[in-house]
Amino acid sequence: ESADAVIIGGGIAGLTAAYSLVKAGLKPVVIEQRGSVGGLIIGGQVGPVTFDLGADSYASRSQVCAQLCEELGLAVAGPAGTSWLFSEENGATPLPFGSLGIPASLDDPDVAMVLSPKGLERARQDLTMGPEAGAEREGLDDLVRFRLGDEVADRLVAPIAGGIHSAHPRNLTADSVIPGLRAGLAREGSLIGAVAAIRGGGPKGNPVAQPVGGLFRLVEGLVSQILAGGGRIETHRIATALERGTNHTPWAVSTFRAERNPNPALPPLPGGEGTIVQTPRVIVATDGGQGLRLLDAIPELETQGWEVPQGVPIVHATLVVRAPGLNDAPRGSGMLVEANSLVSAKALTHSSQKWPWLGGACGPDIHAMRLSWGREGEPYPTVTEAIAVREAEILTGARIEEVLGSKVMHWGPSLPPLTPAHLARVAQLHEAAATLPGLAITGAWASGTGLAAVVPHGLKTGEQLV
Ligand SMILES: Cc1cc2nc3c(=O)[nH]c(=O)nc-3n(C[C@H](O)[C@H](O)[C@H](O)COP(=O)(O)OP(=O)(O)OC[C@H]3O[C@@H](n4cnc5c(N)ncnc54)[C@H](O)[C@@H]3O)c2cc1C
Repeated sequence: ESADAVIIGGGIAGLTAAYSLVKAGLKPVVIEQRGSVGGLIIGGQVGPVTFDLGADSYASRSQVCAQLCEELGLAVAGPAGTSWLFSEENGATPLPFGSLGIPASLDDPDVAMVLSPKGLERARQDLTMGPEAGAEREGLDDLVRFRLGDEVADRLVAPIAGGIHSAHPRNLTADSVIPGLRAGLAREGSLIGAVAAIRGGGPKGNPVAQPVGGLFRLVEGLVSQILAGGGRIETHRIATALERGTNHTPWAVSTFRAERNPNPALPPLPGGEGTIVQTPRVIVATDGGQGLRLLDAIPELETQGWEVPQGVPIVHATLVVRAPGLNDAPRGSGMLVEANSLVSAKALTHSSQKWPWLGGACGPDIHAMRLSWGREGEPYPTVTEAIAVREAEILTGARIEEVLGSKVMHWGPSLPPLTPAHLARVAQLHEAAATLPGLAITGAWASGTGLAAVVPHGLKTGEQLV
């Protein structure tokens, strides 16, 4: 077969890249091994309602996601309700306003509810130690511990940044999870000042948004534009090799029908007879493991032996329940949980409170919730509906009268912590790929995790290959 462009991987990175190509009048083919596209963004029905079962929002610091939704005719909305923190010592307390656990002000009474007077006093050293102190520290944990002390690192940043990114903050690069943090430190003179400037004194709560109806509507919108523009989306098809082709069509992608893996937690396996697709443009938009396996065959990229950092296995339990005790949203839009002996979950989202359209769809006394597991250093989480219900009751303090639907999703290690060493290697990889006409690489492992990084990179990658 031949095609204007081949995109390997139909996650949000591959779909945004395909969308850019279609907008330029090309007809790409998207090869996706699973039965549906969207990757880590997936919608599904639980009990009486359909909503996101995977990623559910984008960080609204990036205007690109909002612009894309507008272009696709999708109305977007921010979340309602504030966030909470749960610890064995303090129970549920409001989450201080800030970024990934770094407060925007140490005078915020919510900070004093979490830190001891001594911990607060230590954190105040950040305000006077000057902008250079610790400024060279790239790791989030290292930087926070140096400037704000152990209590801020352990009681705020570990549960919040760790919960959101499924990694210990020592494995997170400060600037990749809070873009502009170290530049803000240099400019404002303190980490607290940097976060205050980044958050702009904005309203409390999460600086995120989603299309009304769920983030998976963005996937649906992209798919319909790609198809309308003459692109093709081939699901249940797996790319197994990428090779140099002829001068005319410099790339050849080997693909096979994707067959069910006996272990459903693992990707599908190639089956049947193969097809080679020849193309002048190829975009690798898979996860890191599969991407490197495909790129290893191209010596100029020098990827042999490179391993993408391993994320921790993540498990979600989504519940739709009758629980009148949740009507007043006792924990706002949800909570992050400090490691403790009462519950094993690391976070709970009260989804029908967070997204008002979902609350409307659930109806009176019915609530949608999601609990998440997966802390670094802990054994593989064991999650059942009964465990989810018990922990939801402890965390919210509300009784669950009836379960209308539940779904446990195993995500595997799909959120790799992007270390400084990994990001430096990725920059080299993009440079090397730029010397090979018609090849580009995108996807979270090659652009930064989260939609605010993945979507702009995917769109730009498509534009560059036009
Ligand atoms: C549980 C969870 C919740 C998250 N929540 C959020 C959130 O709320 N907000 C946010 O911004 N980010 C969130 N993230 C991160 C975000 O989802 C990812 O950064 C983003 O979706 C990655 O998109 P991608 O296209 O790079 O990768 P993926 O979504 O992993 O897509 C890659 C695709 O390539 C396919 N593929 C792989 N190899 C092959 C092959 N050889 N042949 C054919 N197809 C192949 C895969 O099947 C997959 O569909 C979350 C992540 C997880 C795991």
